[in-house]
Amino acid sequence: MAARKRSSHKVVKHVPPRRSPTPRGVDREAPEHAARGRRTLSAAVCSFELDPLTYLRGLVRDIPDFPRPGILFKDITPLVGDARGLNIAIDALAERFVGHGLDAVVAIESRGFIFGGALAARLNARFVPVRKAGKLPYVIDRVSYALEYGSAEIEMHRDALRTGARVVIVDDLLATGGTAGAAAALVERQGATVLAHAFVIELGFLGGRARLAPTPVVSLLRYE
Ligand code: AMP
Repeated sequence: MAARKRSSHKVVKHVPPRRSPTPRGVDREAPEHAARGRRTLSAAVCSFELDPLTYLRGLVRDIPDFPRPGILFKDITPLVGDARGLNIAIDALAERFVGHGLDAVVAIESRGFIFGGALAARLNARFVPVRKAGKLPYVIDRVSYALEYGSAEIEMHRDALRTGARVVIVDDLLATGGTAGAAAALVERQGATVLAHAFVIELGFLGGRARLAPTPVVSLLRYE
């Protein structure tokens, strides 16, 4: 057997550079990503202790005087920007309508599309957009409705719903009920039935629920 050839390479022992001693009782600073991970984890654990709708409420941001002085705008971008928040909202809306034989979710431009699209997919129903005037490309029905100052128009494709279709109308927020009521008029013009209106937020003090009666209103977060 051939003798093993001796390596001529020298083994160089790696000596780590000398580090300055850590003062007693003081932690060496953790890497930034580790600190970030720790914070996120503990925040997540705390959030699971809140009940889902309390958690959701904490994700609605109040913006005073937007878009006009005197309006307290309910900003849902933190809610939809939070994976758990968005899931809670969709789950909570979906569970009210599962098993009701819905044919379509009619959603109102533009924030209604966020919830309406996910809800339609979850409920295995069709998604139908209601848009501001001039946005839909095919043959449309149009309804005008009064705003606080002036009026607005919304539209729906004329072939969107079949006669007798069972529909839920979805938007992010119910204020006076004018927009949702106009959407209901569009739905009924096509011979479909509005089973309910569904919102993430309801500004109860503006009386929208009464305006939409006798059609039931489902809302997840009510502000008085
Ligand atoms: P209304 O027709 O009065 O019920 O108004 C509802 C529509 O206006 C919804 O599409 C809302 O997105 C929007 N809206 C009205 N008031 C507010 C508010 N305070 N914060 C956010 N959105 C609002």
